[in-house]
Amino acid sequence: MKVITLTFLILLTACASVKAVVILQYHHISDTTPAITSLSPKLFEQHLAYLQTNNFTVLSIEQLLSGLQDKKPFPNKSVVITFDDGYRSIYDTAFPLLKRYNYPFTVFVQTAPLEKGLRQFMNWQELEELIANGGAIGNHSVNHDHLIPKSDSYSKKRLERHVKFEISEAQKALSGNLSKVVNVFAYPYGEFSQLTKKVVKRLGYVAMGQHSGAASWQSDLQALPRFPMGGRYGKMDDFSLKVNSLAFLDVQTRLLDQRRDIGISHLLPSLQKRPRLQIEFLKQGVGRSALVNGIRCYASDGSELVKAIESDNKIIFSMKNDVIEGRSRFNCTAPSAQKNRFFWLSQPLISVDSNGGYY
Ligand SMILES: [Zn+2]
Repeated sequence: MKVITLTFLILLTACASVKAVVILQYHHISDTTPAITSLSPKLFEQHLAYLQTNNFTVLSIEQLLSGLQDKKPFPNKSVVITFDDGYRSIYDTAFPLLKRYNYPFTVFVQTAPLEKGLRQFMNWQELEELIANGGAIGNHSVNHDHLIPKSDSYSKKRLERHVKFEISEAQKALSGNLSKVVNVFAYPYGEFSQLTKKVVKRLGYVAMGQHSGAASWQSDLQALPRFPMGGRYGKMDDFSLKVNSLAFLDVQTRLLDQRRDIGISHLLPSLQKRPRLQIEFLKQGVGRSALVNGIRCYASDGSELVKAIESDNKIIFSMKNDVIEGRSRFNCTAPSAQKNRFFWLSQPLISVDSNGGYY
């Protein structure tokens, strides 16, 4: 009887619909483009084969949006495939494979290179062909500028104007040349600030970064996480770990000052070399103490953060080394009750560079 109940429970968990989905971010699918943003065609095909063999559901961007916005359950093991920039290898190499697997996908296009007719990017006809065959097109700005303040002292008005221009002009170009465009924005370099998010929201866009983790009903719709695939990421063991990841639910994260317990922005003030991460579990539940005990966090240099359990639902993580210059993140994972599936969250960080600015 016990065995039957247990089997039933496992089956129920495996089949259940869920509140989260994994979003993948690719750039080039090619062996000859810059390694840091490229994934080999062979590996890309292995990713697609893995998704098929392991019964993943590949969702369109529309299905993702309606799930997140209307809180509709996703099938267990749901994935969304996205590409940034609009490079030629998406059309030449990824597209035929995606068609063969019949998987929907989204390309976030920066429009200036298309207007200039640059050959390393797809052209309007090719994008239209993607739309006719399971592809969706989203906004990735006109010029691929950094859309965060240049430094602490950068004027808010100027940033606001800049963000508005980049998004609205890109959308104009996209909708003027294509039959269908989605109101989703991918931040250039995955960078955003509180103000950037606010402007994006006011303009009516959902937006994606490139900090890792599964996206859920509780995610910030103007800062959806994506797992970058390319460069050192995307080998099969890394891919299977990430694509199987689960979202931490009912969790609140907050960055704390080095010394005093005040919340700070992920655009770190210049004196903040070792921000601390506070994670608070908001709901009582059977799994909570396992999560509190099991969670581990790492900085981008690979060093593990020092964990201090403050109470039965609050943990503070501190850095052993100073934060690296520019963009980085804290990655936190915890084992789940499902085999080979880990909860995953990521906190983006942007620290000032040697010129005293954010880029
Ligand atoms: Zn980009």
